[in-house]
Amino acid sequence: NTERAPKPDWLRIKLATGGNYAEIKDMMRTKTLHTVCEEARCPNIYECWANRTATFMILGDICTRACRFCAVKTGMPTELDLQEPERVAEAAEQMGLRHCVVTSVARDDLADGGAMIFVETIKAIRKKLPLCSVEVLIPDFMGNWDALQAVMDAEPDILNHNIETVARLSNRVRAKAKYARSMELLKRAKEMKPNIPTKSSIMLGVGEEWDEILQAMDDLRAVDCNILTLGQYLQPSPSHLPIHRYVHPDEFKQLKEEGLKRGFSHVESAPLVRSSYHAHEQVKSAAAA
Ligand code: SF4
Ligand code: SF4
Repeated sequence: NTERAPKPDWLRIKLATGGNYAEIKDMMRTKTLHTVCEEARCPNIYECWANRTATFMILGDICTRACRFCAVKTGMPTELDLQEPERVAEAAEQMGLRHCVVTSVARDDLADGGAMIFVETIKAIRKKLPLCSVEVLIPDFMGNWDALQAVMDAEPDILNHNIETVARLSNRVRAKAKYARSMELLKRAKEMKPNIPTKSSIMLGVGEEWDEILQAMDDLRAVDCNILTLGQYLQPSPSHLPIHRYVHPDEFKQLKEEGLKRGFSHVESAPLVRSSYHAHEQVKSAAAA
């Protein structure tokens, strides 16, 4: 049973929280904003914020789904906050962001899944910070392709949608999301705006086999997905999906090679990589590809 295996050395990290970290935290509270950086206690927070990258979670902090790996609360979401896009843009400006990732909980209670708020947020950031690249990490909108079209028409710099795991484990790991629907979303996004790089992410260590990871990479490349991130799954609490194993950093390196061989323009692959890690570099490499 690997569940109780001690954390390997490469996952023991010290949270460095110096600089203007406390100040930014305060600002988030006064603006009632949520960042994934803080809520997921992301180990990269100091590095990312120093590099002027942050991930905002819009549409509230209560999700209509309950994926077994995710620490976000499940329940009935709060009312739509139409001022949120503006506040995100203000916070991005105060942080002097160069790359802003915008993601959300799944809002299956809304007809458009919250796409309109994504659109407004992209516009508000563009207006305040014309030089800041904007990446959206979107839910599947339950397959509402008009909602996807609206987001693509707002021209984010990167369209990110995570498949999270390999095909066989998708139903076990994610709630309501479907592997095939996620692939279709990435395919359609590319057809709608061929010049906008698409991106996806897989967490490792939930029971996937090596060949299944390679297959997922092939499936992503078949829909012309450009950027891939791979990181170790870490269990947020004992009631969440157990960790099947800790993937060795050398395996992550090998997988990066496999990904590049398959034609991804950028692959981030290491135990502590999260979907938005080093995202500002991906904009450049995708543009150059
Ligand atoms: Fe935030 Fe993403 Fe960086 Fe983590 S990797 S600190 S979530 S921007
Ligand atoms: Fe977490 Fe997203 Fe799943 Fe909601 S849909 S539980 S936010 S991973």
